[in-house]
Amino acid sequence: MLNQKLLLGIQCPNDDCNSFGPFRINGFLMEDDGNPDGDEVQWDKDSPIVCPRCGAEATVEHFSNAPTYELSENQKRFIEDAEDFGLEVNYTYSGRGMFGDQCPAVEIDHAGDFGTKARTETDTMGLGYVIYARR
Ligand SMILES: [Zn+2]
Repeated sequence: MLNQKLLLGIQCPNDDCNSFGPFRINGFLMEDDGNPDGDEVQWDKDSPIVCPRCGAEATVEHFSNAPTYELSENQKRFIEDAEDFGLEVNYTYSGRGMFGDQCPAVEIDHAGDFGTKARTETDTMGLGYVIYARR
């Protein structure tokens, strides 16, 4: 389940795990609602974080590419297809006219490198393409 509160945007980046927590941050166990013992835990993007489920260790920044919004059916289809193509999904992309709202996106070099049945839009960014799925 997506984190909505303290762990907003945080997910284990290990593709075999992709846990949404709990995680050990700065040595403290953290769930989306907080530390189970009620401790106040502070961290920033450079703090160490460990996924107890698979043992992945990195910084909070490295764990912070999860969506912070509920995915629409169209976006779920897009993500499934992107994973089938072996593409890394960027959940923090904001397309033209989205006014900072975020959506899943993939970057590809050639227009033919990705196909999906989801409704998508395309930005050309210098050398490549960004394909993204609004709601
Ligand atoms: Zn993990």
